[in-house]
Amino acid sequence: MSLTPLTEVQREIRSLARTFAADAIAPHAARWDREACFPVAVARQMGALGFLGMLIPEEFDGLGLDTTSYLLALEEISAADASAAVLMSVHNSLPTQMLLHFGSDEQRDHYLKPMARGELLGAFALSEPESGSDASSLTCQAIREGDEWVISGTKSWVTSGSFADVIMVMARTDSPDARRGSKGISAFIVTPDRPGFHVGKKEDKMGLRASPTVQLNFDGLRLPSRNLLGEEGQGFVYAMRSLDNGRLGIAAQALGIARAALDASLAYAAERRQFKQAIREFQAIQFKLADMASRIESARALLHATAAAKDRGESITMYGSMCKLLASETAMFVTTEAVQIFGGYGYVKEYPAEKYFRDAKITEIYEGTSEIQRVVIARELYGGK
Ligand SMILES: Cc1cc2nc3c(=O)[nH]c(=O)nc-3n(C[C@H](O)[C@H](O)[C@H](O)COP(=O)(O)OP(=O)(O)OC[C@H]3O[C@@H](n4cnc5c(N)ncnc54)[C@H](O)[C@@H]3O)c2cc1C
Repeated sequence: MSLTPLTEVQREIRSLARTFAADAIAPHAARWDREACFPVAVARQMGALGFLGMLIPEEFDGLGLDTTSYLLALEEISAADASAAVLMSVHNSLPTQMLLHFGSDEQRDHYLKPMARGELLGAFALSEPESGSDASSLTCQAIREGDEWVISGTKSWVTSGSFADVIMVMARTDSPDARRGSKGISAFIVTPDRPGFHVGKKEDKMGLRASPTVQLNFDGLRLPSRNLLGEEGQGFVYAMRSLDNGRLGIAAQALGIARAALDASLAYAAERRQFKQAIREFQAIQFKLADMASRIESARALLHATAAAKDRGESITMYGSMCKLLASETAMFVTTEAVQIFGGYGYVKEYPAEKYFRDAKITEIYEGTSEIQRVVIARELYGGK
């Protein structure tokens, strides 16, 4: 459902995504979760359908769609598997948007176009073992040596980091003797073929198990100077601007998980019988379903209104944080209630409720925890000061 009226194109995109998700993702999601692996071939299929270039203008080989179309597609993919959705969200919102807005013509030709076509997969490396919410405290260091940059340090939690072809890496370019805070951070386009690039440990996660989350170690990684994105010292600003958009993607991912949990709960409550009646006849269960549906609809309405504001060119920093906060807390609420509606069967892997519950939790953590979203919202309420 969607309260906001959809255009014909938006309905078509949603339907394309729904069909693809039902055919190519949903039947395999439980096995990918069990085996903790996501087939790169499926990512390539997503690329071939245009799902990895949705927000990139046609002149750069993308589909040039509006933000609502993208979020509708993302919700459909996420309802089938949240791991597939995070790959799509990171690729569309972070490295490709940074290249589109801050890259040179040469960088857009060389990286953005094949990424928009889905031939190269993108990742985003900001976090480090000692630097999470306080992202500007990162220590990964880039030093200029003639025509090259030499990068040393460790990035953690890199989604798709084990198979990405292009990784947007934030590293310090200020001197260790004269740190410049967030102004000392630059963004670099890193490819895994560079000497000194190593994929480190893969995280053994609670949920989103099919999505590979890895550490990346740079041991004197050498990059040509043309791989600096935009201006030196602006990398943190570029990353934060992209995260404004990324948060809408995570909100759509959270909504997809929540909707799938609601749909499964509706079906289960109609079929499961206790005390000689379907459990949906109990008011306690009806109230849960009503609360679940109401929260999903309100989170989706805010998300689509924010997407439209973004496409009108308005600043969405506060609303983007509200969308992510509301949608992720909705996903956690809805999936917790879903487990309860399934009773004991909600607690075992034979039924889908426990996977939704495990997958939902991360949406309250990455791309800014719920606490950080509240910090952003409160700051914006005071005019951003
Ligand atoms: C599965 C997964 C995928 C990820 N993918 C990526 C990725 O692709 N790229 C990337 O760069 N990062 C990624 N991350 C990292 C993610 O963005 C961070 O985990 C997140 O920003 C939180 O940082 P942290 O884990 O260091 O927690 P911390 O920052 O240490 O926070 C710990 C707790 O303290 C709270 N806290 C911290 N500061 C404040 C404050 N000022 N006010 C109130 N409370 C505060 C937090 O809300 C949290 O509850 C991923 C993480 C996971 C788990």
